[in-house]
This record gives sequence, structure tokens and C-alpha cells, in this order.
Amino acid sequence: MRMSQFFLPTLKETPAEAQVVSHQLMLRAGMIRQTSAGIYAWLPLGWKVLQKVAQIVREEQDRAGAQEMLMPTIQSAELWRQSGRYEAYGKEMLRIKDRHDREMLYGPTNEEMITDIFKTFVRSYKDLPKNLYHIQWKFRDEIRPRFGLMRGREFLMKDNYSFDLDVEGAKLSYRKMFLAYLRTFARMGIKAIPMRADTGPIGGDLSHEFIILAETGESQVFCEKRWLDLDVLADDPGYDSDLKDFFAKYTSLYAATEEMHDAATAPAELETARGIEVGHIFYFGTKYSAPMGAVVTGPDGNPVTVEMGSYGIGVSRVVAAIIEASHDSNGIIWPDPVAPFHVAVVNLKADDAECARVSEEVYAKLQAAGVDVLLDDRNERPGAKFADMDLIGIPWQLTIGPRGLKNGVVELKRRATGEKQELPVEAALAKVT
Ligand code: ATP
Ligand code: MG
Ligand code: MG
Ligand code: MG
Repeated sequence: MRMSQFFLPTLKETPAEAQVVSHQLMLRAGMIRQTSAGIYAWLPLGWKVLQKVAQIVREEQDRAGAQEMLMPTIQSAELWRQSGRYEAYGKEMLRIKDRHDREMLYGPTNEEMITDIFKTFVRSYKDLPKNLYHIQWKFRDEIRPRFGLMRGREFLMKDNYSFDLDVEGAKLSYRKMFLAYLRTFARMGIKAIPMRADTGPIGGDLSHEFIILAETGESQVFCEKRWLDLDVLADDPGYDSDLKDFFAKYTSLYAATEEMHDAATAPAELETARGIEVGHIFYFGTKYSAPMGAVVTGPDGNPVTVEMGSYGIGVSRVVAAIIEASHDSNGIIWPDPVAPFHVAVVNLKADDAECARVSEEVYAKLQAAGVDVLLDDRNERPGAKFADMDLIGIPWQLTIGPRGLKNGVVELKRRATGEKQELPVEAALAKVT
């Protein structure tokens, strides 16, 4: 992408309406535009990050054996009456009438719809287990939409639903998602701690919230410091094991949300902090399968009501949470795996023939190598260019200027550390590919 053509409406001033740093930086970096309270358009830079985050979520779901599908955003009230949640859900549900006066709603979650689809097609224990997911927009008419994408009304969620023949099977499905979530957040370069959580209106008896520690978090959390030292990707036992040891290890350290915190059983050395809920997993048994009749024929020929769980990641909230966890006074610092571009090639003097020639050559080489690269080919002051690159947080800045070229070098800067090196072009290319 060429900066001269890129639709990137960055702002110099911090917008007054934004209270938390992720919201401020997403607006300043030209990632999003609010269109109504709690509803946002994703501009090209923001959309690129959202897709990178969603892709990591997708890869880890697939790896854990879940299958992707896509359910609609608009649902029929009829389904929700079957589970008894239509009235219970309250004002957070956006209710709509179509032209025939049929009651519809913009889905806040999909337990009812997936249970209905499942029961239509699956009749035998031989077809279990199943785990189905989608990445789809949800709507919750939050009483106080705020903090930008952190608490929006329309937001992107990955949600999946597991179906098993018995409790043991359902608990294995739960442990697989527990691992998948830890892997997902670790791959994004963030530490999300699974904390015992209240099951709330979804019901059930086994639940963890995945929480990122950040000052701007809306919930108070309590956890052991040692949590921060665990290396999930190194500990991963793979999905062929029963995951019992892994689960035991990762739930042995104390970690609880305020609702579940119990000072009497908690260890003395405890970190209390603010946290952002980025994911939530539940095992809830037959809460939906029983009222909705999701029944299969068991091995002995008798009907069995399936055991279910549901699992959610707030994909759009994760984008904001990453910024909360990774920024400085100059702007965003994207962890490499979710960065919108991996390298920014900054041509310091756009009207200098040699600078332009080398910049174009480097740009072409990086593109040919499959690297996501942004070329700053604008006729702007160097200071403005550096400020923009720091603001939008590209992990590597490769700067090409007339003085360096005379000595046969370019400058390579790492956004996260600020560390700068002068290198010959080929050496710089080798570092970023
Ligand atoms: P919260 O406690 O923040 O209201 P929740 O517990 O109501 O979230 P869940 O029903 O567990 O949310 O949904 C799964 C995930 O969806 C959450 O862990 C969160 O990451 C995300 N999410 C929920 N509500 C919102 C929202 N209003 N805006 C953005 N993301 C959200
Ligand atoms: Mg909520
Ligand atoms: Mg919650
Ligand atoms: Mg939750």
C-alpha cells in the first residue's frame, strides 16, 4: 500500500469524546469512525487489524477441531421463546418487527439458533461430538456504550457451541477450548488470564473469563503474580491428549473475578488489578438442549439430551484491549502477529530521484517476499512522517534518506524498543523478511 493513496484519516489532536487510550488512539490512527452511539465503521487500517485478529482466532479454532460456519445476525423471536430467554434477556436485546409484524431481533448471541440447527440434522450419538463456530456481528443495546470498541453496541464476536453425548465428553470439549483460548491470546502477543467466573444468565456450573490486565479494565480481578510467567505455547500438550494435567496446572494458580473472589481461600501474595474480559467459556449441560429438544439416540437405543457448552471471544474488543496493553505516548505498538503492516518503508525525500528509486525497489522486493508493507511516498516533512508511523504502530520502520544512501545505508527502527540501526539495504531487508 502507498501512503499517498491510502485512506488513512489520522488526527493530530486527541478527540475530547474519547476517555480511554485505546479509543483515543483508534480515532487518531484513522482506524474507526463512530456512526451512532456504540456503533462504528471500520476504516481500512482498522479493518486490516480486525481481520488479522479474526484470522488467529479462526486458525486456533480450526486447530482445536471446531468447524466454521456463518449464522445470520437477525433471528426470530420464536426461537428465543423456546428457551425461555425472549422475555428474560431484557432491554439489552434489540427487538425489531418486520413488515408482516413478525417479531425479530438482532442476535446478542446464538445458543438458540445453533441448538435449533443441530437438532434438525443430528439424530445419533455416532455424529458426536460436534463443535461449530462463527465470527459474526452481535448487537447488545448496552445501557452505557463507552470506551469505543471496548463496550460497543454492535461488536464482532467469535462464538462457538459444543455438543457431546455425556458430561465427560462436554468437559473435554471445555478443556480443548480452554487451551485454544490460551493459545489464541498468546499468539496475539497478549497475556489473557483465565479466571473462575460466575455463569450469569447463560447458566451452568463451569466457566472461565479470559482477562487482560489493564488499568482501564471495567472489572476488579485477583490473581497470583506467577500467572504472568507461564508460557502457554511451550506448555501446549496438543489436542490428542485428555488435557487434564494441563487444565489442572493452569487452574491451580489463584485467579478470580470480583464476583468469584473469596478472600478466605485466596493466597496471601495476591495481585489485585483491573481487567478487560476478552473471552468467556461456559459448560452449561442441557440448559438449551432440554427445552429445545436437542436429543440423539444413544448407543443403547435410548434418547439422550446432548450436553452443551458455549465459548465467546470479543474479536473487536480484543483490538482495543491490545492497544490498552501495548502503546506509548507516541501511539500504538502493534505486536507483530496483529500489525496491519509488518514494515513501513519511509522515503524521507520523495522528490529525490535516488531516494525514490531505492524506496520503490525495497517496496517491490518486500511485496514479492509476501511481506505486508506500507510505503510512505508522501511529500511531507520527515517529522510528520515519523509521527504518523509511530502513531499507527508499524513494528518496523525502514527509513531511506539521501544522507544514508551516500554511505550505502538505510535506517531500521523497531517501534517497540525505539532501537535504531544503520544497515546496507540487503541487510535491512533480511531483518524484516
Ligand atoms: P461484559 O461483562 O463485558 O458485558 P459479557 O460477559 O456480557 O461481557 P459474553 O456474553 O461473555 O459478554 O460475550 C463474550 C465476549 O464478547 C466477551 O468476553 C467480550 O469479549 C465480548 N463482548 C461482550 N459485550 C461486548 C460489548 N458490548 N462490546 C464489545 N465486546 C463485547
Ligand atoms: Mg455484558
Ligand atoms: Mg462479563
Ligand atoms: Mg462474559
